[in-house]
Amino acid sequence: MLELRPSCEGCGKTLPPDANDAMICSFECTFCEVCALTALRNVCPNCGGNFQHRPIRPAAMRQKHPASSERHAVGIDEASHAAFFARYRDIAASER
Ligand SMILES: [Zn+2]
Ligand SMILES: [Zn+2]
Repeated sequence: MLELRPSCEGCGKTLPPDANDAMICSFECTFCEVCALTALRNVCPNCGGNFQHRPIRPAAMRQKHPASSERHAVGIDEASHAAFFARYRDIAASER
């Protein structure tokens, strides 16, 4: 089950479980759409993977299966991102 982390790890923007601008990588590193696609150019700074929009969790499911409330550190590791970006910038996500 997805954690549904509560905020963007790039800028700190709150991303509730019904946010339509939350994006995640396969490890659930979580960023807002602006950070994921503009600042990071669809390369996760932590693993080099790509991002997909995070599905919403319906309100009726959230009482039994609540979103995570644990905020992760805000801040992009620029050196790590630069290394992954140099390696993957011209490689389709499915080929990484
Ligand atoms: Zn952000
Ligand atoms: Zn990642």
